[in-house]
Amino acid sequence: MEILVTNDDGIFAPGLWRLVKELQKIGRVVVVAPDREQSALGTAVTLRQPLRVRKIRPLVAEVETYSVEGTPADSIILGFGKLLKNKADLVVSGINSGPNLGDDVLISGTVGAALQGYLRGSAALAISIDSLDNLYLDNAARLAALLAEKIAGNAIPANIFLNVNLPGLSLEETKGIKITRLASRSHIDTVEEGHDGRKAYYWLVRQKINKDPEEGTDIHAIEGGDISITPLHTEILNKPSPRIPDSLCSELLKELRKSQP
Ligand code: MN
Repeated sequence: MEILVTNDDGIFAPGLWRLVKELQKIGRVVVVAPDREQSALGTAVTLRQPLRVRKIRPLVAEVETYSVEGTPADSIILGFGKLLKNKADLVVSGINSGPNLGDDVLISGTVGAALQGYLRGSAALAISIDSLDNLYLDNAARLAALLAEKIAGNAIPANIFLNVNLPGLSLEETKGIKITRLASRSHIDTVEEGHDGRKAYYWLVRQKINKDPEEGTDIHAIEGGDISITPLHTEILNKPSPRIPDSLCSELLKELRKSQP
């Protein structure tokens, strides 16, 4: 099994290397990851400047490792387009320090990188832990390796795209594992204004708003002390689009032509 590993916390983040150490036991691992922290960049790709890549000495012996001056999504695109000899069977992104739950998956660099792998036909796994202090990374790494084995053994479909979150708890404290759906809202972005003596500046601040998450959602699982596994796909919110009548199109075209100066 050929496994491409990336993250959005930067190539020297401890979560990435803990993951590599476990995944190395079950397949050939290649690391292609941003040279610095690139959190909250979602699926951003760099199109207006060249991308520099450096082959660097890995933190886990004998793992081919490339540091990318770009985003998590850039790393996957470069991996598939240039650096890997064969197509990766699996892309694993993480272990992110901090959770990626609910509609936050839309801005998550961790999930964005996994999405790029999924769009290129690989199985994809984003893995995050609801803790900022690097505790329990080993549990997350072992779970990722177990899921990779299930994918390799066809117990999970090979074209799967999973968003996995672990609570910041020991395994003894962890209640269980739940297959979930995304909670509808996780955060609201508020703006805080300050002044540097010359000019006003603004901080975007994320505030948790989903205080009473619905049962069956990822946020509900994590808050209850469960590990959450959410199968994702490219229709991320899994809802039909609101109906817009076809007649509106001809109406718009007519009005557009009429408004032509
Ligand atoms: Mn991150």
